[in-house]
Amino acid sequence: MNSPFDLAGALAARREAALLRARSAVCLDGLRLRVEGRDYLHFAGNDYLGLAREPVLAEAFADGVARFGAGSGASPLVTGYQEAHRRLEETLCDWLGVEAALLFNCGFSANQAVLKALLGKGHRLWQDRLNHASLQEAGSQLPCTMRRFAHNDMGALARQLEPAAGLIVSEGVFSMDGDLGAWPALCELAAETNNWLMIDDAHGLGVLGPEGRGTLASLGIAPGRVHIHMGTFGKALGVAGAFVAGSRELVEYLTNFARTYVYSTHMPPAQAHAITAAIGLARDGEGHREQLARLIDHFRSGALAQGWQLGQSHTPIQPLLVGESEAALRLAMRLRARGIWVSAIRPPTVPAGTARLRITLSAAHGEADVDALLTALDACREGA
Ligand SMILES: *Cc1c(COP(=O)(O)O)cnc(C)c1O
Repeated sequence: MNSPFDLAGALAARREAALLRARSAVCLDGLRLRVEGRDYLHFAGNDYLGLAREPVLAEAFADGVARFGAGSGASPLVTGYQEAHRRLEETLCDWLGVEAALLFNCGFSANQAVLKALLGKGHRLWQDRLNHASLQEAGSQLPCTMRRFAHNDMGALARQLEPAAGLIVSEGVFSMDGDLGAWPALCELAAETNNWLMIDDAHGLGVLGPEGRGTLASLGIAPGRVHIHMGTFGKALGVAGAFVAGSRELVEYLTNFARTYVYSTHMPPAQAHAITAAIGLARDGEGHREQLARLIDHFRSGALAQGWQLGQSHTPIQPLLVGESEAALRLAMRLRARGIWVSAIRPPTVPAGTARLRITLSAAHGEADVDALLTALDACREGA
């Protein structure tokens, strides 16, 4: 009654719109998921190379804990930045062909830190409409002017751009659609108008390009054409954390002005040690990437033959478009009854009317797993 916050009302509105979210504490063993005593085969994670359960990586993490202890003990400008962190930064530079890199505890805070450190009152920020929530949210809270362009619509972006006014941000692989950003055109537009360009490659890193170097490498784009590279370690690399990379000057600037870097306890050195090992595995992961490509083809041809509508994606993120939130939720529940776990993705994560199943494939899946998914989907068609 007399509370300043109407939590119950907000929750009831979400429930009525079939948008209420809830968590389930799961037991995860690779691709097997145990929830409330039932086992499922899941196609819902972001562990695209299957590294999160890779024993070599777990051993590297344990070795890191034995050598460096459990935590870093301080923020990076105090005593938190240690040898293991420096080695990871150097490994990143060698892998991606960038001058310098900086580690963050997670991608969400890395994106916020970069935008907040760079964009002031007079600046412009141009974002793809489907960019991740961390980017949209930071942009809308900043004093700069944010313009959003329709997904991958380079004509719309070109009309919005002003010379040397700010930053264009897009993603390597879009997280809910699995398609790529229009990077050749983005690079041209940025160069022509003297604006900066930032890539969030959370879903491309490890998965695309030679040695898994990511979206830009897969398109043959030199890293120097993009001013700010952001990537995460919690998806294909199987650990957690994030980085921002680019020129030495950029990294020195962020070391001074990125507040979530300066005022936050640095990631445990054991984690940095494990991520360095994960990068080694990803670089050598051509076999995993070939396996993924086979599974993606197999899934797409099977689902399309059943008449499902898929996105224009050739990455491990395969959206199966349903439309209304209730229908997406119903389909996810019917699959669950058949032992298959996938996520129904609803607004506000995706635009209204585009609710979907976000099906993700991992190199740890086998062809028989994809067959099990296809069999269940076939049995769950409306009217089937
Ligand atoms: C997951 C994700 C992030 C956030 O990264 P975390 O390390 O999980 O916080 C940022 N951007 C995109 C595109 C993502 O998919």
